[in-house]
Amino acid sequence: MIMDIAGELAKIVGREYVLTKYEDIVPYVKDASYIEGEKPIAVVIPGNASEVSKVLKLCYENNVPVYVRGGGTSLTGSSVPEGGIVMSMLRFDRILEVNLKDRYVIVEAGVRVGELNSYLEKYGYMYPPDPASDIAATVGGSINTNAGGVRGARYGATKEWVLGLEVVLPDGTITQFGEKTLKRSEGYDLTALMIGSEGTLGVITKAILKIAPLPKREAMFLAFYDSYKRFGDVIGTLNERGLIPLTAEFLDEVSMNAVKGYGIPYPDNAKALLIIITSEESEQVLKALNETSPIELRTIKDKKEMDNALKLRKGLYSSLLLERENPEQRVIIGDIVVPPSKISETIDEIYNTAKSSGLKIAVFGHIGDGNVHINIFAGPNDLDKAKELLLETGMIAVKHDGCVSAEHGIGLEKKELLLKEFAYRNNQINLELMKKIKNVFDPKKILNRGKLIE
Ligand SMILES: Cc1cc2nc3c(=O)[nH]c(=O)nc-3n(C[C@H](O)[C@H](O)[C@H](O)COP(=O)(O)OP(=O)(O)OC[C@H]3O[C@@H](n4cnc5c(N)ncnc54)[C@H](O)[C@@H]3O)c2cc1C
Repeated sequence: MIMDIAGELAKIVGREYVLTKYEDIVPYVKDASYIEGEKPIAVVIPGNASEVSKVLKLCYENNVPVYVRGGGTSLTGSSVPEGGIVMSMLRFDRILEVNLKDRYVIVEAGVRVGELNSYLEKYGYMYPPDPASDIAATVGGSINTNAGGVRGARYGATKEWVLGLEVVLPDGTITQFGEKTLKRSEGYDLTALMIGSEGTLGVITKAILKIAPLPKREAMFLAFYDSYKRFGDVIGTLNERGLIPLTAEFLDEVSMNAVKGYGIPYPDNAKALLIIITSEESEQVLKALNETSPIELRTIKDKKEMDNALKLRKGLYSSLLLERENPEQRVIIGDIVVPPSKISETIDEIYNTAKSSGLKIAVFGHIGDGNVHINIFAGPNDLDKAKELLLETGMIAVKHDGCVSAEHGIGLEKKELLLKEFAYRNNQINLELMKKIKNVFDPKKILNRGKLIE
């Protein structure tokens, strides 16, 4: 390794864009998860693809690990460094083109997802993936974790919306995968390969994203139940009748309690809440919901009220921090996915497993696409138990035809779980294939070393 990496980086990007002081670097040692990395040698903040290329070439030739970072909101330790250098993408903050005729937008990788959506709103359009962290999460980071969000019930996750990418490969080569077209049939889909790759294959500098007209929100329904056990039936019934909602979220009692004081009071005997937003056929949705015997069913038509309820749902993870018994407790968030019809039995097993562990949990999620978040309240002495519970809940999902990660990725936290999932399905060959792909892109393993499959 070269002696003065920071000095060499400064020659490429300018001294003001290389951080080396302890107080400047320390914020990069963590992401939004509980996992702490190792202090990097430096944080470099390039301003264009050519600088990214030169930085990668330098690191590649000198075998210096590079940890790419967008908003740093990963919940699996995916963006924490383990030494090496951190490459922050936050100067890639420009929206370059909006093309409504061809339904795409071109943006740099460091643009925040929420900012992109506020921009598109002026045109009556949206970029559908909308993680609850959209105020901080970047386009590049969300592509690398295949982020989902509260619009996932109808619009799916990020992978449905990426048309093309400008990518800098680990050796510094700049290339483009995909194009501005709405479809392609050109062999192996290298654009798709980058989605969910967690910064292990290349650095995304620019993205061509598909956009959609903002849907009209006809109504929001708040359905309160005395048990979460009907959830699978509700989503199954709506799907069966072709009534796919724009948004379908659920909250359990602890989660409802966390937002109770902010505008969603709930009946005393309510144990679960379903939030459904429809863009059409609201009468049929209302009828279907009534058939599932909620203890109370509220209809909201006012835009401000709908926005407020959605804001509460998006802020739920932060609100849960107020439910801690003491400030030392952490709230560790899990993320699994099962086919929607398996939701009720999956949640049931999760509660039973958590009960045996003695840890308090709160469960909420994007129920429309079968995504369940298990939030574990863990004191400093409970960390091992919490990790065990995360493993167990991951395998509960797998046993119900689900996956150990829905939208948060693998990072450091779920490496073991991914292997368990492969083993359960007797798909160990998948790990070998992934390792070979990594080796083709990054034979020296400089990008996000130690994550995902390493
Ligand atoms: C309060 C809260 C709520 C959340 N809600 C959701 C949610 O609803 N849905 C959801 O899907 N996730 C959610 N998340 C998780 C997280 O926000 C997402 O994973 C998000 O997509 C990460 O974006 P980021 O820019 O912060 O990426 P980072 O955390 O910076 O990085 C994530 C991964 O992407 C890589 N990376 C980042 N930028 C690039 C690039 N330009 N090129 C190559 N690799 C890159 C990193 O190396 C890392 O592996 C939530 C997190 C928090 C804290």
